Amino acid sequence: MSKSEIFAELVTYDHEQVVFCNDNATGLKAIIAIHNTVLGPGLGGTRVWNYASETDALNDVLRLSRGMTYKAAISGLNLGGAKAVIIGDANQIKTEALMRKFGRFVENLNGKYITAEDVNTTTRDMEYVHMETSHVVGLPESMGGGGDPSPVTAYGVYMGMKASAKHAWGSDSLAGKKVAVQGVGKVGGHLLDFLHKEGAQLVISDINEATLKQYASTHGATVVSGDEIYSQPVDIFAPCALGAILNEKNIAALKAGVIAGAANNQLADENVHGPMLLEKGITYAPDFLINAGGLINVYQEHIGYNRETAYRQAEHIFDVTLEILKTSVDQKIHSQKAATLLAEKRIKAIASVQSTY
Ligand code: NAD
Repeated sequence: MSKSEIFAELVTYDHEQVVFCNDNATGLKAIIAIHNTVLGPGLGGTRVWNYASETDALNDVLRLSRGMTYKAAISGLNLGGAKAVIIGDANQIKTEALMRKFGRFVENLNGKYITAEDVNTTTRDMEYVHMETSHVVGLPESMGGGGDPSPVTAYGVYMGMKASAKHAWGSDSLAGKKVAVQGVGKVGGHLLDFLHKEGAQLVISDINEATLKQYASTHGATVVSGDEIYSQPVDIFAPCALGAILNEKNIAALKAGVIAGAANNQLADENVHGPMLLEKGITYAPDFLINAGGLINVYQEHIGYNRETAYRQAEHIFDVTLEILKTSVDQKIHSQKAATLLAEKRIKAIASVQSTY
């Protein structure tokens, strides 16, 4: 990518700042992208990935940082959007020195960027980063952090699911509703707890046989394999494993009237599959809204951790989901778009608030 092409990319989505970090001694090659800091410092995790090219790495960090802006804005947080990528094979390049050097680059941004765990980074890595900067969240509880965010994420998904049920059927009760959950890992597992407690009937799929067996026994869940999860005769489908699973084929197979799950980027192509769901009358709870519990949890860490407040804030996902689903119907736009527009509206409104000292 040439210099002029890079700026063309930044102009397209209005990125504020992109920092290229290089350190020969540790082999660190990182890109920090700060998309928008109107609402607050840009917060987003650091991903370590062996990208096929530097252009792929740049595109990924630009796309992910933009996503963080919308997630923070729609969740009512005073946070902007940012993200970082470290280029290379996590198993080979990650060392204490490399992570600490990365922490130094984060420190140099003086709090404009706050980092956290992401794909191929761990709590231990964040401890190294924390040795060089205080602008890091997702630390263990023993260090004053918020610990595992997945219970709060699951609670937010549960709230979004209840709001979607209310929108679709007039009641937020999930008692007796059949729910298919794809992926019963950290978030999916906690979601099963909430659903089971409320009396929902559960259908589950995963690639981990042991987990499936466990939930079949403790939660009375019916186990199905692979793609069978899409065509189950259920009321609600909750994708909690993989992104991009809402494509032509899977949408055609769906019998569920509501989709509400934790996975990121569920729509294979937002502009194609968002409208397709709207046309089919399937209520789709925007993923970046209802899975924001994890971000809400680390935001609490940023301002002084309190788990109760994190849950209270995640509960708000119920009202916002209802509002967006109503807007989607009233304005005949798909729900992901309605959510994006609401996020943009908040950023614009707060930008004008901040225009005077
Ligand atoms: P996880 O790794 O704990 O769980 C994912 C589960 O999906 C695992 O049990 C895995 O075996 C299963 N899985 C993988 N491939 C599958 C397939 N083809 N079919 C069925 N199951 C499959 O991850 P998690 O933390 O529970 O996150 C789940 C999703 O939610 C991810 O997409 C993640 O990006 C997103 N998310 C998580 C959080 C969080 O707080 N953990 C926050 C926001 C978004």
